Amino acid sequence: MKDTIFGKIIRREIPAEIVYEDDETLAFLDIMPNSPGHTLVVPKEPSENMLDISEGSLLSVMKTVKKIAPAIKTAMEADGFNILVNNGTEAGQQVFHTHVHIIPRYKSAAFQKFPPGKPNVKVTPEELAEVAEKIRTTLA
Ligand code: 5GP
Repeated sequence: MKDTIFGKIIRREIPAEIVYEDDETLAFLDIMPNSPGHTLVVPKEPSENMLDISEGSLLSVMKTVKKIAPAIKTAMEADGFNILVNNGTEAGQQVFHTHVHIIPRYKSAAFQKFPPGKPNVKVTPEELAEVAEKIRTTLA
């Protein structure tokens, strides 16, 4: 598979607001979140999506999702969250390195329930940093 922006984030070649890391996975904030706290969990082992990911890599990713989603919900004072994987261009996949979206949902805000296409909230690096710090603190 081709190198992607997420490969560069894993190798620390470009910056990201990383909220969690272990030997097999990395979790960082989506640069263009659909809601505050929108986080992406990626395997370090390369794969494009659910079609070619190894069972071991998938298990590691979902363990990380299970571990950090409650902390994201708590840190962001969210009321619920979506777990979402886009597989293929027609399904809205833009970055061809497997990633699981964790998208907090809020009673009070008019966020789209389930975006068919692109996440849609512009935020500043400072806002992202503040959110990441809340999640890291809750996870610690
Ligand atoms: P997909 O549409 O492939 O399921 O989701 C890709 C996600 O990656 C999008 O929500 C997009 O905002 C996010 N994204 C794209 N480029 C970057 C980047 O350079 N850094 C971060 N943190 N997220 C990115």
